Amino acid sequence: MSAPVSVTGSQPPLPVPRTAAGRDGLAAMLRDPGRALIALDFDGTLSPIAADPAAARAHPGAAAALRRLAPLAGTLAVITGRPALAAVEYGRLDLVPGLIVLGQYGRERWEAGTLTGPAASPEVAAARRELPAVLAAAGAPEGTWTEDKGDALAVHTRRAARPGEALELLRGPLSGLAGRSGLVVEPGRFVIELRPAGADKGSALKNLARKRRSGAILFCGDDLGDVPAFRAVATLRADGIPGLAVCSGSAEVTGLAEHADLMVDGPAGVVDLLNAIAAAFAAVRARPGGAGPSGDAGGQAARG
Ligand SMILES: [Mg+2]
Repeated sequence: MSAPVSVTGSQPPLPVPRTAAGRDGLAAMLRDPGRALIALDFDGTLSPIAADPAAARAHPGAAAALRRLAPLAGTLAVITGRPALAAVEYGRLDLVPGLIVLGQYGRERWEAGTLTGPAASPEVAAARRELPAVLAAAGAPEGTWTEDKGDALAVHTRRAARPGEALELLRGPLSGLAGRSGLVVEPGRFVIELRPAGADKGSALKNLARKRRSGAILFCGDDLGDVPAFRAVATLRADGIPGLAVCSGSAEVTGLAEHADLMVDGPAGVVDLLNAIAAAFAAVRARPGGAGPSGDAGGQAARG
């Protein structure tokens, strides 16, 4: 890991991405904060993982860091597999002016208190009817439980005595159910989710970057469901939009780090990074001739 550097003498240190492309992405964000898009996953990134998903709450410093960053960055967004309203509630994201929450892998959008989303999926309804019998036939161990997200079904094994074995036991039967129902399978940290095809965090990130006419992108996530967003950062870079993929590191997920330009230490590390970026953006904007409010750089113009 490279040594941290300070943007100015009194600011918190900004970490240095390990890749040249990541360093270019961060530099591009600092040149023009008003066109920067900063998007973050929720669970494992802004919020520590909880055994019960309904008990997850954002890191105590997350809302304050996001509030600090919101007026400085062109676009600030949370992109999550959760229903958008759950992330808003558990993260107190309603306290962050201008923040956009893309829920259910981008199928839902929450902004300024208004939620828009797709019609109910008949494929999910069919899978919902069949799921209890599938779990029973597979011999799902005690502790296995289903989170009904409305537009997706998530089967969790975290509370089972042997969560990893339980997940492997259920992987085949749930993949079969998804195939029969016309759904796709999304693996995660001791969870297998069945959801409609056609939405992933990568598409959500690319669509948001296009709508907001973003000039540089940062995406931060912790889990396998974030890989499409990491790939989207690479695709956008190839299209001439610099950016960096940040991994919120954990002992549970090791496959994501190889795709990342920068590793931070879980939600506490993410909060530190957000605060460091906010300080750096504020320093840039305070410089004579520095980028003005986000509207000057096109961020507000593309809002919506
Ligand atoms: Mg996550």
